[in-house]
Amino acid sequence: MPEPDTQPSGALVLFSGGQDSATCLAWALDRFERVETLGFAYGQRHAIELSCRDALRTGMTATRPDRAARLGPDHTLSLDALGQLSDTALTRDAAIALGTNGLPNTFVPGRNLLFLTFAAALATRRGLRHLVGGMCETDYSGYPDCRDDTIKALQVALNLGMDSRFVLHTPLMWLDKAQTWRLAETLGGKALVDLIREQSHSCYLGDRTHHHDWGYGCGTCPACDLRSSGWARYRADTAAHA
Ligand code: ZN
Repeated sequence: MPEPDTQPSGALVLFSGGQDSATCLAWALDRFERVETLGFAYGQRHAIELSCRDALRTGMTATRPDRAARLGPDHTLSLDALGQLSDTALTRDAAIALGTNGLPNTFVPGRNLLFLTFAAALATRRGLRHLVGGMCETDYSGYPDCRDDTIKALQVALNLGMDSRFVLHTPLMWLDKAQTWRLAETLGGKALVDLIREQSHSCYLGDRTHHHDWGYGCGTCPACDLRSSGWARYRADTAAHA
């Protein structure tokens, strides 16, 4: 088996076009010599999120030739089976609601296990060693497939099952949404914060018509609630330290 430092050091970023994955892309562009992106299509009704990816990729590299030189192709994998498996508001016209288990009914059981497994298969084909995802325990602790222990266990399983040395990175694991905005500011200043605020998309309802100080969205679904409260705390903290 080759030594780790002789292996390719490129990264594949799970890139949905949301705030978290956009921040992860900027994080990866500062760390890896080659960065490619991956989005999944599985019939979710906010397919608008996927269309935000181009604007974010372009915006992140437009004034940064160093980042432009590192950014490789964007990939999309169709996971229609996931849409077939889910009976949730992501794929049907049901209202967003929290179930008795505290999980939004948008939850697709174990989807991040599938995403990372497909990402590892693609990364093998592309010669990329690092997988980067926006999984986070802090805001969505109800999602068991986003927990740190799950990701660590999956890294072991992927490396055993694919005889590989993948490294799974989750730079947002212990950050809340306010701290994620702060990370974007650290990575790219106001320009990156503004880009992510305007071009990334989180709203479960796919609303790109209502504009708020935190970006576009319906303003009432759980994803918009999380995003707006995170933005408010980020701004309040910025003002307090100005
Ligand atoms: Zn919304």
